[in-house]
Amino acid sequence: MPEKEIYDLIIIGGGPGGLSAGIYAMRAALKTALIEKGIPGGQMVMTDTVDNYPGIENISGAELSTKMAQHAQSYGLEIISREATSIDINGDIFSIKLSNGEQLDAESVILAAGGSPRKVGIPGEDECYGKGVSYCAVCDGFFFRGKTVAVVGGGDSAVEEAHYLSKLAKKTYIIHRRDELRAGKILQQRVFAESSIEVIWNKIPIEIKADDSGVVAMDLEDTQTGEVSELATDGVFIFIGFKPNNDLVPAEVNMNPGGYVITNEKCETNVPGFFVVGDLRDKFARQIVISASEGCIAALSAAWFVENKRVC
Ligand code: NAP
Repeated sequence: MPEKEIYDLIIIGGGPGGLSAGIYAMRAALKTALIEKGIPGGQMVMTDTVDNYPGIENISGAELSTKMAQHAQSYGLEIISREATSIDINGDIFSIKLSNGEQLDAESVILAAGGSPRKVGIPGEDECYGKGVSYCAVCDGFFFRGKTVAVVGGGDSAVEEAHYLSKLAKKTYIIHRRDELRAGKILQQRVFAESSIEVIWNKIPIEIKADDSGVVAMDLEDTQTGEVSELATDGVFIFIGFKPNNDLVPAEVNMNPGGYVITNEKCETNVPGFFVVGDLRDKFARQIVISASEGCIAALSAAWFVENKRVC
């Protein structure tokens, strides 16, 4: 029976970090496979417009995702469309189980699993998901043409997505828990210049109300006075940050208390051969360009690691 093939590198996650790692790994002649359970691009696919990726003034997140995937595949990168369900460390080999029961073995792994939207955790949020509650303006904004929507959050995502929704909706509210947005200044200027967007300051949602047709209103609590008011709205879009997708991180790998993986400047974790890039990595800022650069760094580190393993 032929011996089972061992990959030099397996990349898990097809966002900008994973795809960039794929490009650099193939250029370094590593036998590499990238595992992605959905469409390549990760959170980038759900972004309406990317206008801060150097060299490209304006592009849709979906198009940039397609371009990155095509670029990686032009070097012959194998993309496996399956969910990775576990990673085991067996001596100096990593064993990755897939949702179809198959197991792949590799000398090194780059985990680029990203993050998922955080929920507010209020009554009505789960019940109304898909019936007026959404975590993706590009996916669901279309259903709110000419209607009223409320965006929860004050960061880059909330402000960017509110701007996108304002092109479709009649009225867009941004509900923020403080009196100052967290989003970058240029994004802020964009929403302040849009007359159909109104920011409601110092409020948090405490309940989402619906009837048979879907969401009709939201109860808001004033963070300064505790006063509760009702805001009529047809849709609620929630962008309050995200949580790291750390389910696949082996127990041996160190994470910080927030569940982000601790790495050094080479994207190395405390486990030799196991690298983490992108939004799952403990770091200062989260941007497409940062994930893409980390993919490059990790692939070069992995190439060095695999080469040294062969020599030893
Ligand atoms: P974020 O920067 O963490 O902002 C989350 C926002 O939600 C904050 O305004 C926060 O309020 C608010 N919030 C958190 N928990 C809340 C709760 N329980 N109830 C009500 N409000 C709550 O998250 P993000 O906007 O998703 O961005 C994530 C990362 O991606 C950031 O690093 C961001 O820069 C990056 N990003 C960049 C771009 C871009 O450059 N174009 C686009 C999207 C995202 P406080 O401000 O009071 O904490």
